[in-house]
Amino acid sequence: MIDSAGWGLNDDLSHLVQEKIQEVINISDIILFVLDGRSELTALDYEFADILRKSGKKVILVVNKMEGRIDKEEYLAPFTTLGLGEPFPISALHKQNLYELLDLIISLLPPTEESHTEDEFIRFAFVGRPNSGKSSLLNALIGKDRSIVSEIPGTTRDAVDLVWEFNGKKYIIVDTPGLRRPARVEEGLEELSVRKTLQTIRKIDVAVMVIDLSVGVREQEKRILHYIEDKGKSCLIVFNKTDLFPSLKERREFEKIVPQILQPFDYFPFIFTSAIRNYNVKKILPWVDKLFELRNMRIPTSQVNRAIEEALSKTNFSKKGKILKVYYATQVDVAPPTFVFFVNEPEIMNKNVVKYFEKFLRSYFGWIGTPIKIEVRKRE
Ligand code: GDP
Repeated sequence: MIDSAGWGLNDDLSHLVQEKIQEVINISDIILFVLDGRSELTALDYEFADILRKSGKKVILVVNKMEGRIDKEEYLAPFTTLGLGEPFPISALHKQNLYELLDLIISLLPPTEESHTEDEFIRFAFVGRPNSGKSSLLNALIGKDRSIVSEIPGTTRDAVDLVWEFNGKKYIIVDTPGLRRPARVEEGLEELSVRKTLQTIRKIDVAVMVIDLSVGVREQEKRILHYIEDKGKSCLIVFNKTDLFPSLKERREFEKIVPQILQPFDYFPFIFTSAIRNYNVKKILPWVDKLFELRNMRIPTSQVNRAIEEALSKTNFSKKGKILKVYYATQVDVAPPTFVFFVNEPEIMNKNVVKYFEKFLRSYFGWIGTPIKIEVRKRE
């Protein structure tokens, strides 16, 4: 954020001042043009509006000192004549409409390099131990739709990315063995190929983690889940080979302890499937859609702060006699949902406290299956 010096001291846009302002405009993505809502517009304001319009940058016309007038359009009417779109009324002093302004700014920011939310593809991959049933599930999922699938080379020589359109949505199923693969020679494949899997995970939005029920959740699976969380990816856990369960009763018993087994990744939803009986395979895609949608969800700052207030009303965090205060928090990014907390004492926000807020936000907003990132900043 660049706080420019403003202009108007000698009431003209002298050559030098104009150059400085132009410099600031050039390096900015968004410009907040702040005007005094209690003063008449001047010729200089129009002149400056003109410069901004010609810059082609995104401009928010902020009209300050609007306490008591936020919803009163008649006060804003004069500002519309500047030709910079809808004026945005705030009161800096009375802290009115500031969260909303922040949300507007964030929504106008250019996307970060890593997010592929722009290109409408939902990227997912089946990951998991060899023989857990990834290929079988893939075939059961899109087997009948092969005609509309195209294959492009994947991360490694024997993997392809499948581009698939289904129900009006576009998917890329990353690093699959392909649909027409020859019979494989299985050798020494007991171990999940971690390195390859990690490469795959970096490329996707949602991981479909396939777990062979006859093998269970082991160290390798946990490592992969940890990596999925670390990279901020969403995950659906698929317990495959349900047909091997002796009875429904035993499955129900197992279901009860799954959250325990998955700890600390129990926020990833799970389903039971059988690829060979085509049981529940049709649930996979709606889950992928849902998880994709949720990881891209944006919460207005005012709601975030209501949630934080509630989170702090239930418990206190302190260190050396100082109690944690969160002045405000805001969601700065999606995929994964990322927040910045402005607090009095960042040291109090240790791993466990951060985890507490993550968990709270997750349940408050129904954020299933996605990691949540929290950055902490000190505010005096
Ligand atoms: P991948 O290595 O993870 O792709 O696993 P595959 O799809 O090649 O499956 C490995 C073996 O497990 C094959 O013999 C499949 O027939 C078998 N399999 C896959 N899904 C199921 C299932 O739901 N139930 C049972 N009983 N066997 C399955």
